[in-house]
Amino acid sequence: MTSRPAVFIDRDGTLTDEVGYVNHPSRLRLLPRSAEAIRRLNAAGVAAVVVTNQAGIARGYFSEKLLHEIHDVLRAQLAAAGARLDGLYACVHHPSEGEPPYRVQCDCRKPQAGLLVRAAADLGLDLTRSTLVGDKASDLVPARTVGAGAVLVLTGYGRGEWEYRRARFEPEPDHVAGDLLDAVEWALARRVAA
Ligand SMILES: [Mg+2]
Ligand SMILES: [Zn+2]
Repeated sequence: MTSRPAVFIDRDGTLTDEVGYVNHPSRLRLLPRSAEAIRRLNAAGVAAVVVTNQAGIARGYFSEKLLHEIHDVLRAQLAAAGARLDGLYACVHHPSEGEPPYRVQCDCRKPQAGLLVRAAADLGLDLTRSTLVGDKASDLVPARTVGAGAVLVLTGYGRGEWEYRRARFEPEPDHVAGDLLDAVEWALARRVAA
């Protein structure tokens, strides 16, 4: 089976509203054009994979069980809009906060690339034809590690990061998009062909 490209999507501030810790399903809100963005990927045969740091679990703010419930709600909201995620990967660790097993120097907390590597193995993805979309510089670092494209969105923390911290913004994005749908359109046009 030939491997297919993916668009890796940060959750908070990119797919959903950035509201701080989502410690209750009621705090989860899709951004206005997110479902349409996922539908485009579904139609194009490009894997839609969420990759999210959820250190609130390591910090004891909410449980892994609640995270799964929140992600069930996320999938249901997308399904109601005809959109489907191919994967949803979360790092629940922190290097110095909380208790073991969550307090650990893991390989999956962004800016590390472990979530992408795991998804690629599970789903048969071609990372070099893939694109990573996020609203912070630290989201985009794993793209450089695995040879994927990197797109900054101006939703969530993105606009502030880009306007006020641009001189120190590292890595330089391959593209800056207004939102996830713009990012997906760029990825489909520029990264997936061939
Ligand atoms: Mg974010
Ligand atoms: Zn981790």
